[in-house]
Amino acid sequence: MDRKPRVLVLTTGGTITMMRHSDGTLVPYRETGVLLSRIPELRQLAEIDLLPIANIDSSNLEPSLWPDLARAIHERMPDYDGFVVAHGTDTMSYTAAALALMIQELPKPIVLTGAQIPLDDIGTDGHCNMINSVRVAASDVAEVLVVFGTQVISGPRAKKTSVFDMQAITSMNARPVAEIGLSIKWNGHPRARSRKKPLLQPSLDPNVAMCSVYPGCRPEVIEHLAATHHGIVLEGYGAGHIPSAGMSLIPAIHAATARGVPIVVCTQCIIGSTQMELYHVGRAALDAGAIPAMDMTPEAALVKLMWILGQTKDLRNVESMMQKSFVGEIRGIS
Ligand code: ASP
Repeated sequence: MDRKPRVLVLTTGGTITMMRHSDGTLVPYRETGVLLSRIPELRQLAEIDLLPIANIDSSNLEPSLWPDLARAIHERMPDYDGFVVAHGTDTMSYTAAALALMIQELPKPIVLTGAQIPLDDIGTDGHCNMINSVRVAASDVAEVLVVFGTQVISGPRAKKTSVFDMQAITSMNARPVAEIGLSIKWNGHPRARSRKKPLLQPSLDPNVAMCSVYPGCRPEVIEHLAATHHGIVLEGYGAGHIPSAGMSLIPAIHAATARGVPIVVCTQCIIGSTQMELYHVGRAALDAGAIPAMDMTPEAALVKLMWILGQTKDLRNVESMMQKSFVGEIRGIS
């Protein structure tokens, strides 16, 4: 590329664009142009345009932001070499999974990043994260990625694992796509640019609940969620285990799926996959109609169920789409 790469930075809020309020709390800046004025080096790396989409603490994020973001990027795809989304760390993994599912056959990279420490505070990681993100957005990859600390992470594999470490977001159940040190070292071949047209599918049904099983969990919890939602992601124990004796949750799962409400079971462990045939407590949930999430993170499973229910309510279709890996959200299949 003879010319400087063109990168669009979309801002949504989060610590990276926050300042300290007089009461000591962190609140979003009113003017998101601070990203460029505080990190002037960005302009050496690329021609940068800014597009504010929202200015929120990402804990206040609602799923309606994802189609807005996906459409804003998709519309501008021909005009830029890559995209960076500045985002709060709290819900970054949900947004990364949503963008990965909503814009497939990507010809260009979409990078999400943020910071643990605001730009105006000593020791901020915002500079490094933004600079590395623009580098990745200007590179020859074509994937939704999270760039944070020393890792470049495939979007649907990202999880916020620490409120303390500078490596707030890590890659779950898969090596990071690249490691950041003196340079950016790719682990194998990153996803190639697609020659096809990017495929936008932004429909969502946000009426999906997520809940963990826990000792003492009563079937009424599942019954209530099934009565008020179109789908449920249930974080089971271990390899997707659901209480099946005493206060068994199995009849409630059976009743929900019989009414067409899908119940997706993932593991509440942070490493590993569901393997629901292993123990009776898993098999019973499968027999009652539960859909195993395999090694999808709960975040990816939730967003994927919303995305699928935005396209179909047919339980068989939901089940087969849930078990298909569209963008690497299930390992080793796509
Ligand atoms: N609460 C902030 C947010 O998610 C935390 C962060 O950005 O690190 O917006």
